[in-house]
Amino acid sequence: MIKFENVSKSYKDGTLAVDSLNLEIQKGEFFVIIGPSGCGKTTTLKMINRLIPLSDGTILINDKKISEYDINELRWNIGYVLQQIALFPHMTIEENISVVPELKKWNREKTQQRAKELLDMVGLEPDTYLNRTPSELSGGQQQRIGVIRALAADPDIVLMDEPFSALDPISREKLQDDLLRLQKNLKKTIVFVTHDIQEALKLADRICVMKDGEIEQLATPNEIIKNPKNNFVRGFIGSNNKHGLNETLYLEKIIQPLKSQMPTCTISASSTLDQVLEKLIDQEQVAIEKDGKVIGIINRQIMIRYLANDLLEGGSAHE
Ligand code: ADP
Repeated sequence: MIKFENVSKSYKDGTLAVDSLNLEIQKGEFFVIIGPSGCGKTTTLKMINRLIPLSDGTILINDKKISEYDINELRWNIGYVLQQIALFPHMTIEENISVVPELKKWNREKTQQRAKELLDMVGLEPDTYLNRTPSELSGGQQQRIGVIRALAADPDIVLMDEPFSALDPISREKLQDDLLRLQKNLKKTIVFVTHDIQEALKLADRICVMKDGEIEQLATPNEIIKNPKNNFVRGFIGSNNKHGLNETLYLEKIIQPLKSQMPTCTISASSTLDQVLEKLIDQEQVAIEKDGKVIGIINRQIMIRYLANDLLEGGSAHE
């Protein structure tokens, strides 16, 4: 879907920010770029929607060079979320969400329907929030609006540059959960920049670890943890891993929404895979609880699929 072929970027002062990057991001993939400050993450991201011109190489979206797209068509079809969402202060939330749909000449009814649907998806009651202005929302709520605004006109691709890094840990975790749910439902291709390894492990289908404008490792979260390619990657996982790697991350990734009957057995989201497996020996499914709330279920089928995938990747989730 998004392909980088020998892409380089040098700035006018001679800084080589990105050095012969080759990578391919699949349709519907949650692709996370991580690395220390100055390694070229933002430059890589902004080249995709032509906010920064390339110095060399080619970027293709759906096999067409980005330089061949009409710039408006390109930008409208790529949502963009920044660290500090700049909502328009004098416009209501509905108007803020509707900017790109209106540019794309959607009719009012469809636009309003979309705004309501998206507010619902991130747990903000449309009747309460549509007519508020940004200053009447908390920082976390504003950031939520920023995320759904980027999704409003139904773009295929969403670029996110450290979108949650200015938030407190609780809001941050909530937004990560929202985003995972949105991604599951809407199946967008997301390119997400962060310097937080916990965030990367939780959200990513694949993680691209960068250093000095180059890729150090590009792999699934499991692979990165189990087989870090070199000392840089190992150190990076280690130094950012404040809480200790545990399998909560994996559990949260494979949780499914509760659809039918509530399972009789409940287990904490911080349980290990072993503990969940043990329950699944005599239960068809278990409910996963976090902060006193059931956040979803894991059933036997999901667990088997997860373990099988992990084996294929050469990992060993269940050691
Ligand atoms: P990251 O997002 O990983 O922090 P950036 O892509 O912002 O990294 O920057 C990569 C490198 O390019 C850094 O050395 C940075 O100082 C440099 N850089 C970024 N923007 C500019 C610019 N406009 N002019 C000159 N150098 C820049």
